[in-house]
Amino acid sequence: MIFKPRFWVKNVLSIDESFLKEHGIDALILDLDNTLSMHGDPAAEQGIPEWLDKMRGLGVKMAVVSNNTEKRVAPLAAKLGLDYTANGAKPLTFGLNRALKKLGTSRERTAVVGDQIFTDVMGGNFAKMPTILVEPFHLEKGILFKLKRAAESLVFKRDLSRLK
Ligand SMILES: [Mg+2]
Repeated sequence: MIFKPRFWVKNVLSIDESFLKEHGIDALILDLDNTLSMHGDPAAEQGIPEWLDKMRGLGVKMAVVSNNTEKRVAPLAAKLGLDYTANGAKPLTFGLNRALKKLGTSRERTAVVGDQIFTDVMGGNFAKMPTILVEPFHLEKGILFKLKRAAESLVFKRDLSRLK
């Protein structure tokens, strides 16, 4: 099912050595907003730089693919030391495929990680990569986001109430 993530975890910090080993994943294509950072926040969420270092230490190759603009993505990706694609247009696959090619990792072992079903998960599924859905760090305000979340909740009964 195109909307269904292969894995569903609390946040990226739950992705550790044993998870990667168990599921045969050795590279990550990471969403930015609400996956590594609160939407619009110039800094990463707490623990993210340390987690990235840990992943690097394990030899995990990583890149960011975000649907947000160059202006938003470039400074934070630079701060985190990650290669990036802005205007990634997920769920279309060209941004993901370009990142995969640059990583030089195998499609089956490179997971697409993100907080949104209709972009990150669908994109990863279209690209035939494993997908990891994370809970958003914070729920965004604004009607468009509310509508998207409502749709996700209806489809998947995602319990977001505990995050409020
Ligand atoms: Mg996101």
